[in-house]
Amino acid sequence: MLLNELGEFGFIERFSEKYFHKPLKDGFLGIGDDCAVLPEDAKRETLVSTDLLIENVHFIKDEIGGFQLGKKSLAVNLSDLAASGAEPCASFLSLGLPKNTSVEFMDEFFKGYAFLSEKYNCPLLGGDTTKSPENLVINVTVLGKAKKNAKKLRSMAKPGDVICVTGVLGNSAAGLEFLLNKNLKRDENARYLIDYHHNPQPRVLEGMFLASLEGVNAMTDISDGISSDLKHIMKLSQVSAVIETDKLPISKELEENSNFGYTQKRQFALSGGEDYELLLTVDIKKFAAVNEAYFKKFGKKLYQIGTIKNGFSDEIFFTENMFLTNGFDHFSA
Ligand code: ADP
Ligand code: MG
Repeated sequence: MLLNELGEFGFIERFSEKYFHKPLKDGFLGIGDDCAVLPEDAKRETLVSTDLLIENVHFIKDEIGGFQLGKKSLAVNLSDLAASGAEPCASFLSLGLPKNTSVEFMDEFFKGYAFLSEKYNCPLLGGDTTKSPENLVINVTVLGKAKKNAKKLRSMAKPGDVICVTGVLGNSAAGLEFLLNKNLKRDENARYLIDYHHNPQPRVLEGMFLASLEGVNAMTDISDGISSDLKHIMKLSQVSAVIETDKLPISKELEENSNFGYTQKRQFALSGGEDYELLLTVDIKKFAAVNEAYFKKFGKKLYQIGTIKNGFSDEIFFTENMFLTNGFDHFSA
C-alpha cells in the first residue's frame, strides 16, 4: 500500500493505533492534538509541540529569505502552543543543511528566529545540526506552560457552541498561489498576500487570553485550512459542524484581487491553510461576554462562522454547497 492511499492523517492514525495504543499515565496526552501534555505538579502542565519544514515543500528559500524563514519556523510552532492556550517557555532547533548553504543566509535565519524568540520570551535551549544532501530541513520543538485544566483541546467542543476564528482567512493561500504561478503579475496587492504567507503571526497572547475565559471550549490553530482543522475538532469531540460560508472573513486585499473569483477566494479561506489564526468553539450563552472581553483586550472582534451540532459527522455542512474540497494533506497534495 502507498502512503497516498492512507493520507497524512490516516497514516498517523494507523501507526499510533497499531504500535502506541497502550494507555498513557494519568494526566499525559499524546498524539492527536496541537500539543502533547505532560503533567508537572498539582497546579501546572508542560505542553510540547514540534513541526518540520522542508525546502520546496514548505518554503522556497529564495522567495522567503533567511530572516522570514527563521521567524516562520518558530512562529508555526508557537501557533500550536497558542492553540492550547499555553505560555511559551523554550524551543529546540534541529537543522539539516546542504554544504553549500551560505553562512549569511543562516545569519539572517537566526536573526529572524531570535527576533520572535525574544518577542515571546521563548529562548532557544538546544537542537542538532547535520548535513543534508540537497534541501534545507528545519525542525523546531517548543515547550510551554499552562495551569492545570486551563489548556484547550480539540476534544472539548460541545453541541450548540459558536464556531469562531481570530482573523481573516485565505490570504496565505492566495500568497502561495502567486509564488507558484509565475504567470500572475506581482503587483502591490500580490506582494501583500505573499508577505502574509511568509510572515505568519502566531496568536500567542490571544490563545492565552481566550483559554482563561469561561465559555471557551475547544481550540486549535489553522495550519491546514478549517476544512481540515475543524474536522479534527469534530472527530475528537464527536460532534458535527455547520459553516456559514458567507460569514467567512476575507480580507479587503484578497476580496479586491481580480485574479481570483468568488469561489476560489472562499476555497482559499476554507482549504488553503497556513493562516495560523485560532479556530475556537464557544458556549453560545457566554459568546457575547467572551467577544466583548476579547475586544477590550485586543481591539478586534472574533469572527463568528458557524455552529457545532449534536452527533458525529466526518463531513462539515456548508450553507453554500460549492466548496467541498479538503484541507491540506501532505500525501494527497
Ligand atoms: P499540527 O498541524 O497542529 O502541527 P498535525 O495535524 O500535523 O498537528 O498532527 C496531528 C497529530 O499527530 C499531532 O498530535 C502530532 O503531534 C501527531 N503526529 C504527527 N506526525 C507524527 C509522528 N511522525 N509521530 C508522532 N506523532 C505525530
Ligand atoms: Mg496545530
